Amino acid sequence: MLITHIEHIGIAVKDLDSAITYYENVLGLKCYAIEEVADQKVKTAFFKVGDTKIELLESTDPEGPIGKFIEKKGEGIHHIAFNVPELEEAIKEVDESGIQLIDKKPRKGAEGMNIAFLHPKSTFGVLTEFCEKAD
Ligand code: ZN
Repeated sequence: MLITHIEHIGIAVKDLDSAITYYENVLGLKCYAIEEVADQKVKTAFFKVGDTKIELLESTDPEGPIGKFIEKKGEGIHHIAFNVPELEEAIKEVDESGIQLIDKKPRKGAEGMNIAFLHPKSTFGVLTEFCEKAD
């Protein structure tokens, strides 16, 4: 297993626009991309913080994963994403370690990345994502 860095931290918010205003006007970060990921029923906004990004997630559907998360737990940190150079290898290794996976195969995430999620039941309560830059 090779993790190079934290690719991003995903944060669930109720209102993307007011969250963007906070990150830009108070923290001084710049939103460089807004993207809707229909597959996950979210609208995302991205900020760079060194090698790591902040990914704000607003639900586009109350029945989507972020809509349900906010209903249950409120706004806040939703997941942590590690950058891995070899996603399929990483999935295989984790699977063989007996960790429960949400995605046994890579799928497309925001920014064209290949991604896979590990189940928080197996990862001490932290929804964990692996990301690999698509070539
Ligand atoms: Zn993510």
